[in-house]
Amino acid sequence: LGGSISRALQQMSNATIIDEKVLNECLNEITRALLQSDVQFKLVRDMSTNIKKIVNLDDLAAGHNKRRIIQKAVFDELCKILDPGKPSFTPKKGKPSVVMFVGLQGSGKTTTSTKYAFYHQKKGWKPALVCADTFRAGAFDQLKQNATKAKIPFYGSYTESDPVKIAVDGVETFKKENCDLIIVDTSGRHKQEAALFEEMRQVSEATEPDLVIFVMDSSIGQAAFDQAQAFKQSVAVGAVIVTKMDGHAKGGGALSAVAATKSPVIFIGTGEHMDEFEVFDVKPFVSRLLGMGDWSGFMDKIHEVVPMDQQPELLQKLSEGHFTLRIMYEQFQNILKMGPIGQVFSMLPGFSAELMPKGREKESRAKIKRYMTMMDSMTNEELDSSNPKLMTESRIMRIARGSGRQVHEVMEMMEEYKRLAKIWSKMKGLKIPKKGEMSAL
Ligand code: GDP
Ligand code: MG
Repeated sequence: LGGSISRALQQMSNATIIDEKVLNECLNEITRALLQSDVQFKLVRDMSTNIKKIVNLDDLAAGHNKRRIIQKAVFDELCKILDPGKPSFTPKKGKPSVVMFVGLQGSGKTTTSTKYAFYHQKKGWKPALVCADTFRAGAFDQLKQNATKAKIPFYGSYTESDPVKIAVDGVETFKKENCDLIIVDTSGRHKQEAALFEEMRQVSEATEPDLVIFVMDSSIGQAAFDQAQAFKQSVAVGAVIVTKMDGHAKGGGALSAVAATKSPVIFIGTGEHMDEFEVFDVKPFVSRLLGMGDWSGFMDKIHEVVPMDQQPELLQKLSEGHFTLRIMYEQFQNILKMGPIGQVFSMLPGFSAELMPKGREKESRAKIKRYMTMMDSMTNEELDSSNPKLMTESRIMRIARGSGRQVHEVMEMMEEYKRLAKIWSKMKGLKIPKKGEMSAL
């Protein structure tokens, strides 16, 4: 896909005269590429029409960077499609919320509901899981196994065959136990069929969820729109989670799901494991969809804001993929100074959304300072290793004592380190373009 979009833009920028015909040819090429990425036909067509309205032929002819102008227009339009205009319901810690997961069988509901619970548990919530899937043999065992691994309370039955009854009993049980995030996992069936939607309607009516999350496998292709719409018609879908983003699919179906449900994507699944779960971030997602790679914007930024003499060292560290606590420390220093490298680091996809969420910069800075105090109590060996296994219990206790912090705070910092190391490791083996070699797409 990236290939054909960049080819289209390249041809267009080589053309001496940019007229409507050339622009149309370019947009046709981009359209084809987006369709291959599973973006729905109607969305692509509307986008193309909008771009023709936005892009001014005179600007293109006047020798401006034509590729950049069109690229930006395409990028912005795709971002717009992913923004339904209103945020989804966000559960509040300490206040009981019921969240119901829906989606076809195999889409990743059971896996994702545990990831969702685990994610919130790490942030201090008291989640619980209810298995209301009585259709698939072994469904309860699967949920039980996942929940046990994550130490999350669960509810289900081997004998009861009424999913509505289980859902209601489970929700009631956990409300009594003061759980603040009660997650109802449901059945899926292989096909979209009336019985499934009727079951979803009944479970939803009986449990009155605060939020219904539609779980979608990123590889379902053009079927995404109809599938999402079918669920939306039977229950009040309020958010979308796209799974299996670690696979080959570029995830264009997410745009369809947003359009069909008028709800935002809130997380993406990036693997089978519990912690392979990320807060959804529009821009890196669209970059990937366009085949720009998550990193092209990032590399641009490096060249733009990092002083020339510091570029090679930073790029070297990035391309090695080893992320030590010392690198984290240096990056934190830069963030606190608002230095240029701090800006770069905070552009890493998945970084800013969690470590420094918008509107909470003050708390985030306090947290970063706390982390740095703890790192001040580490030995050089600890700081320079990229092996988190080195951090034994006794070392963690020593660091906590040395910095006057709690053991759980040191452990929390190490979790953060592991998360950042994983993001950082995606840079490994990155081909480092020299300045001026950066292509528009
Ligand atoms: P359900 O039928 O909707 O409950 O789907 P499951 O949760 O049972 O998942 C179906 C399969 O997809 C399982 O083998 C999961 O391990 C796998 N799976 C779920 N999410 C992801 C993901 O983000 N990445 C990958 N690679 N596999 C996933
Ligand atoms: Mg399941």
